[in-house]
Amino acid sequence: MGVVVILSLPLSALAQDDGKLRIIVFGAHPDDCEIKAGWVAAMWARQGHQVKFVSTTNGDIGYAVTSGGELAKRRMREVDEAARILGIESHVMDNHDGELMPTLENRKKLVRLIREWKADIVMGHRPNDYHPDHRYTGC
Ligand SMILES: [Zn+2]
Repeated sequence: MGVVVILSLPLSALAQDDGKLRIIVFGAHPDDCEIKAGWVAAMWARQGHQVKFVSTTNGDIGYAVTSGGELAKRRMREVDEAARILGIESHVMDNHDGELMPTLENRKKLVRLIREWKADIVMGHRPNDYHPDHRYTGC
């Protein structure tokens, strides 16, 4: 996940009326957000800001021992536990790992999540990533 943040204003200028930020972070797989943005999410959460991690796939492949629904459930439990530890929220979309496509339907789903969260800051993968799921999440 490449994070590019260009701000000409202090973070406080982006904040809600209560002075707190609402941050949403998109990762393609259930571990991308946790690995790449867990540190900053923990810092923001401890400062009282609201953070939500979204995985755009369910992570049902990519592990040598198991796959399918069993693996997706395991990865869901992992991100739920990470969110509990970090003090943030987490959401896993029900798209198959490795099959994410940059469709209008998927774009609308991401826009809906951003609007529902009332995000002040949106973070995600760089759009030129090596992995198609990462690219299509970052676009
Ligand atoms: Zn990934």
